[in-house]
Amino acid sequence: METFTVGVDVGGTHVRFGLLGADGTLHSVCKRPRADVLPDEEPAKLGDVLHEYIAEQGVPVSAVGIGIPGTLSRDCSTTLKVPNVPALNGLPLADMLSRRAGVPVKLENDTVMLLTGDQYRLGLQPEGLVAGVYIGTGLGSAIFYDGKPLKGHNGLNELGHFPVPGSKERCTCGNVGCAENLVSGRYLQALRERLWPETHISRLFTEHGDASEIQAFLDTAACILAGVVNLLDPEALIVSGGVPAMADFPRAALEAAALEKCMKPRPAETLRLLWSEGADDAGVLGAALFAR
Ligand SMILES: [Zn+2]
Repeated sequence: METFTVGVDVGGTHVRFGLLGADGTLHSVCKRPRADVLPDEEPAKLGDVLHEYIAEQGVPVSAVGIGIPGTLSRDCSTTLKVPNVPALNGLPLADMLSRRAGVPVKLENDTVMLLTGDQYRLGLQPEGLVAGVYIGTGLGSAIFYDGKPLKGHNGLNELGHFPVPGSKERCTCGNVGCAENLVSGRYLQALRERLWPETHISRLFTEHGDASEIQAFLDTAACILAGVVNLLDPEALIVSGGVPAMADFPRAALEAAALEKCMKPRPAETLRLLWSEGADDAGVLGAALFAR
């Protein structure tokens, strides 16, 4: 009999759910307020919500995968630091939720889930080293080796907190001068408020793409991408997130600027830079695939 998995994508304000069949199709995708399904005062309630969601589907579910926007223990059993949902800090969340949901629950960083979904949708073979860079509200990253997340001593992978010159602001992590302060949707939003308050954020690249401040943003982004390529020499570099999905985002110009900073002849000549569309359900798909 066909078995299904459930994917969950936890965000600061919303939690998304989806059911994945063997053919790779997502069903019953929904979005619920985070305060309702993962309340600060009782995070384990998400286990009950999952139990109900699975019962409603009426199909056998073998496991649940959950993407967490924060730092997990190396074995992914415990949520160590989740800046947007501090109530999760230091909880043995995988066990808490498995018990209430009645099925195994597997946690991973949300960028690992995104890269899992992107590799699948782009039809990439899980071979060699694949890197993902996600420019959304913040700046995230994930690295896979032969289809598995590459893990260091603590399991961290935090490109957004790579120190760079040019930023004196304090980052959400507590340090000063993180890349995320200069390459993120949060930075673009601050730029817009300061320089072009009359422009809607969705038209930032359309109306101000030639401005020196936007060009400086793209140059820093190119440095970050080329740094990843020169350090890792990946089979493929996937770039995604809400920022590259914005109208008139200059993908070709950013790619050219990044290539200029990549070492030559290799990896510049062999680089496969792939843009993923950053669909809303990418994290859910990745989490369900990860659980499978
Ligand atoms: Zn930081």
